[in-house]
Amino acid sequence: MSRTPLISGNWKMNLNHFEAIQTVQKLHYLIPKGAMDDVEVSIHPPFTDIRSVQTLIESEELDFALGAQHCHFEDSGAFTGEVSPAFLAKLNTKYVICGHSERREVFGESDEMVNAKVLAILKHGMTPIMCCGETLAEREADETESKVVGQIVAGLAGVSNEQIASLVIAYEPIWAIGTGKTATSEDAQTVCAAIRSKVAEIAGDDAANTVRIQYGGSVKGGNSPELMSQPDIDGALVGGASLDPDEFARIIQFNG
Ligand code: PEP
Repeated sequence: MSRTPLISGNWKMNLNHFEAIQTVQKLHYLIPKGAMDDVEVSIHPPFTDIRSVQTLIESEELDFALGAQHCHFEDSGAFTGEVSPAFLAKLNTKYVICGHSERREVFGESDEMVNAKVLAILKHGMTPIMCCGETLAEREADETESKVVGQIVAGLAGVSNEQIASLVIAYEPIWAIGTGKTATSEDAQTVCAAIRSKVAEIAGDDAANTVRIQYGGSVKGGNSPELMSQPDIDGALVGGASLDPDEFARIIQFNG
């Protein structure tokens, strides 16, 4: 089963809309023609940049998919400061990250909220990138798989097998995010394989063979080829390194 790798750049709360345009233009300039034939790349700027990046991608016909970092699960209403998935869909957003550990830990998002977001993103024709991952304490207590599998089961409640097949799951060990520490490719592969077998249990083999599983946590140009060569790793969710077009271009060209 061949799954097109997806490399996603999560800019977090960095780069204003002027900087965003320059960064996307530079990234496009750095990637040789043909180098993205077998890989998909999504860019997830802050909300205030999205319209500018959309306009650039569409007017210049750049080969990048537009992504968002987060959304609310309701379409509209009294949710001051929140962003509707319906509005993101109107901007031709293709991928929406949900359940990022920073949202879970800093903003108190529960598994139930992540599940509601997965359903809302799908309802609007976009693809969730649903994140999961363990803390260092959980890893040291040998609870990595139970934590991650629990997040997967809760996040996919009420999602059809066909929808599960279409989505992206990002395995991001929390201790590896923004720390410069990366899971070994063997450890990352073990957890991603456990995620895939859980998906098979929940939604069947077809969905498990089709769902894409990213690894995230201090991915760089230097470690991406080995991570990406693992059979159950189908891409990378990249934070810090995606802000640097040279480094992000190297990650995208993990195949050489
Ligand atoms: C992330 O933001 O999801 C992430 C993995 O960050 P970093 O690549 O900086 O570790």
